[in-house]
Amino acid sequence: MPNIKTKGIVVARRDFSESDRLIWIFTEDFGLVQALARGARKILARLNGHLELANLAKFHFYKGKTFYTIIDAQVINNFSKVKNDLKNASLIYHFLELVKIFLPLGEKHPAVLGHLSDSIEILGRQNHSVAKIFFELQFVSELGFKPEMHECVICQKRLALGKNFFSFLQGGILCSDCSVADKSSFGVSDNCIKLIRWIAIENISTLKKLENIPDNLIQETDRILEGYLEFLAERKLVGQDFVKKVKRLSDG
Ligand SMILES: [Zn+2]
Repeated sequence: MPNIKTKGIVVARRDFSESDRLIWIFTEDFGLVQALARGARKILARLNGHLELANLAKFHFYKGKTFYTIIDAQVINNFSKVKNDLKNASLIYHFLELVKIFLPLGEKHPAVLGHLSDSIEILGRQNHSVAKIFFELQFVSELGFKPEMHECVICQKRLALGKNFFSFLQGGILCSDCSVADKSSFGVSDNCIKLIRWIAIENISTLKKLENIPDNLIQETDRILEGYLEFLAERKLVGQDFVKKVKRLSDG
């Protein structure tokens, strides 16, 4: 079945040749795909508005040996109200970068697609840092890297309040006895542990409850997740820096 229809979100795009454009689309039925928007300026001109970054659209592809070719695209939601704000745009860029870096081509994750779409949608109404933490935590959890926050990863004892450490290497909390096993582990506050546990089981409609969390606690959690994501990705995430720069600019 070389002809395929599915919906998806445009994750990245770049020029492929003088007349073709290569588009990464995170689809519901085929995971992340690379698709060509081919040549003929007329076709590109017709499709272009539907293929903007972060658009949720219905796609009609022809599946070739190496690439998909886009036959048609029809935007479902271009999130225009959200995208116009630079802070929102920086977060969207960060979300899309995570999808492109972490998901291998062709691996299906329909829950992540729904989560990505919801997370973009709420940006206009939600505290940015909370939205960022929420997306990151749900994202790594759905990919099987949910940080262990209930018991020590090594000795599996239930955590006692007080002296606990976060280990990127072990993927969660170490008790003070076991923290020597990972010299790069670092202290984490009880409230931060509670917040991560809480957000991990929260859903998007009840996220408003987190509006009044103190800034320093949000920042501690944000730093941990940022480090954890970069550890998992084995690289610096450009989107994270972009989010920080824009935040500094807009916070004055
Ligand atoms: Zn332990």
